[in-house]
Amino acid sequence: MELAHRDITYCKNVGAKRADILRKELKVNTALDMVRQYPYKYIDRSRFYRIAEIEDEDTYVQIVGEVTEWHTIGIGKAQRLSATFNDGMHQCELVWFKGVQYVKLQRGVKYLLFGKPSRFNHTYNFVHPELTPWSKVTPEMTQGLEPYYNTTETMKRHGLNSKAMRNIIAELLPDLKTGVPDTIGADILQRYRLMGLTDALVNVHFPKDTPTMQAARARLKFEELFYIQLQLLRQMKRREQNPGFAMPIVGSRFHALYKSLPFDLTGAQKRVIHEIHDDLKSGRQMNRLLQGDVGSGKTLVALLCCLLAVDNGYQTCIMAPTEILANQHYETLKAFLAPLGDAVHVALLTGSTTAKQRVPIHNGLLNGTIHILIGTHALIEDTVQWQNLGLVIIDEQHRFGVAQRAKLWSKNDIPPHVLVMSATPIPRTLAMTVYGDLHVSIIDELPPGRKPVQTIHYNINRRAQVYAFLRKQIQEGRQIYVVYPLIKENEKLDLQDLQNGFNELCEAFPEYKISMVHGQMKAADKDLQMQRFASGETQILVATTVIEVGVNVPNATVMMIQNAERFGLSQLHQLRGRVGRGADQSYCLLLTDMEISGDTRKRMDIMVATNDGFRIAEEDLRLRGAGDIDGTQQSGIPFDLHIANLSTDGQLLTLARQAAMDILDQDPLLEDEMNRIYKRRLDSLRIESPQNWSEIS
Ligand code: ADP
Ligand code: MG
Repeated sequence: MELAHRDITYCKNVGAKRADILRKELKVNTALDMVRQYPYKYIDRSRFYRIAEIEDEDTYVQIVGEVTEWHTIGIGKAQRLSATFNDGMHQCELVWFKGVQYVKLQRGVKYLLFGKPSRFNHTYNFVHPELTPWSKVTPEMTQGLEPYYNTTETMKRHGLNSKAMRNIIAELLPDLKTGVPDTIGADILQRYRLMGLTDALVNVHFPKDTPTMQAARARLKFEELFYIQLQLLRQMKRREQNPGFAMPIVGSRFHALYKSLPFDLTGAQKRVIHEIHDDLKSGRQMNRLLQGDVGSGKTLVALLCCLLAVDNGYQTCIMAPTEILANQHYETLKAFLAPLGDAVHVALLTGSTTAKQRVPIHNGLLNGTIHILIGTHALIEDTVQWQNLGLVIIDEQHRFGVAQRAKLWSKNDIPPHVLVMSATPIPRTLAMTVYGDLHVSIIDELPPGRKPVQTIHYNINRRAQVYAFLRKQIQEGRQIYVVYPLIKENEKLDLQDLQNGFNELCEAFPEYKISMVHGQMKAADKDLQMQRFASGETQILVATTVIEVGVNVPNATVMMIQNAERFGLSQLHQLRGRVGRGADQSYCLLLTDMEISGDTRKRMDIMVATNDGFRIAEEDLRLRGAGDIDGTQQSGIPFDLHIANLSTDGQLLTLARQAAMDILDQDPLLEDEMNRIYKRRLDSLRIESPQNWSEIS
């Protein structure tokens, strides 16, 4: 019977109880599902080591030798068995402290030792090794790579450990070898030199050597990425069919603002505005991601795009992730628009907007007198109605997309254009996955004349030196940010940290004024403190990461980050972007503990070495690795990756996306007979679309 139709219950070594657990823990229903559980690592059992050849701890090795002597220490449960193992040249120690009574050792017998060594008192130590009399060693045991499988606690409690998984899958091999229908067409397999599915599944579990294992895994990774891309790109193609408001005119407001700017747009800003305008005038709905490093001038681009829409008779809105950022956008836009006088009306709608203030705003939106509405996500959702909303700009937090997207538009026939802005650069692979259904515009150039921020890493024991530096900057008329980390789980403690820091600074700088802001403050108090700092009344702003996004005080030249080890790379980069906005040389001071981990050291080194946000984003992904990023929560990736890894499989991802694009270019809706395997599998996989913005139509 085909593996796909064989209930897991009736597979060898399974049975009702285990089948139940497999279904619940791994969603394994059939034999095919079972062979789709891929190993997470392999151990090379074809290699035999000598004790002298062991190079590092933590790598499994197997050694042939004899047990020369042993003794037990302690009694009952605390019993521990210690043995000496000799490979003819050298010796090592074996230790058991569980199930000691079951370990039966014999002198003068040849054994195969298998386990993970650790170094202790100049000898290697194996805790709970596998020790098999040589007479019982089968050829299969020492052939090729041994697969290891992820299991859950529940599975382990019921004896479903990695070895049990391996045994169940091994029993399915003969049937697997008779062939499973491939999920990728022969033409693609050939073009990208990929292994067929049957071979790949056999060799992902029991490869004879490393190259075969890698080829098998590459094929399965490709398949996984290919179907995600096919889904995303099909979504993109579908939406390319959506009608959109045509905005062909480049009108008076746009020109007026353009002319009033005290500087030229950068080449990159001009290019992305062209790209966006091409979408806006196409008569099709725009779905575009705007990427650019901190300080690259995304806000101005957003404003110019709004004016394109307004000049064509449409309303626009900008959604910000936080209230502070919404306020900041509002202030920035009003300042830019001041020369235009009454021609453009901007309104702000956030949690702090009172019911009374809302009335004229709701009216203005409905009768079309408000042209641009700036607000936070949650609020705009419910009661707001528009006369003719034509463009929605979503300013994303750098923690890319929480799947909470506002439904701004009443279900009109024509959906508004959508521009998603990311606050910091996103690694290429993540952008292709999280935002894979959007067209992408990148601002890859900073406005001219910026002095790169100098970044310096200090240990906290050099605080005196740091303070002296701060004092000098303030004496020169500059201002300073001091940021404390915020850990959500313990807000009380964080506030205490912040308060202590504030007090310490007050003592250290009695001659200066200090503002403090944090997330627990009332919006009005927050605003007041921010305002005092922005106007230069206070010289130092002590804050938690609430200031992370959007704050713009060009006279601030120092960003001092306390406990920098508690921030991720992107966050540090985002914070650093708050300075370097004026004419003066700016500095970012990263303060950490004396004792820091290797990873922290790497992060600090990267921050010191580069100001390039795109590079930092890539390094961030590499350091955090797949484990941290592949989860839906952290990254907004709405699907689990079972085998592919976005931090290492960028090349495969590019190929998979290309392959998917080639198919859809010919057949956007997968209607051709020859693309039926793709359509069927897509439908059966039911990969979710990434974000609600895809459900606009
Ligand atoms: P982002 O939002 O991409 O981090 P901003 O839009 O906040 O960047 O821009 C940073 C600063 O640079 C702002 O003060 C903005 O007015 C200014 N700016 C934007 N474009 C230019 C330009 N082409 N030349 C000079 N300054 C610019
Ligand atoms: Mg910005």
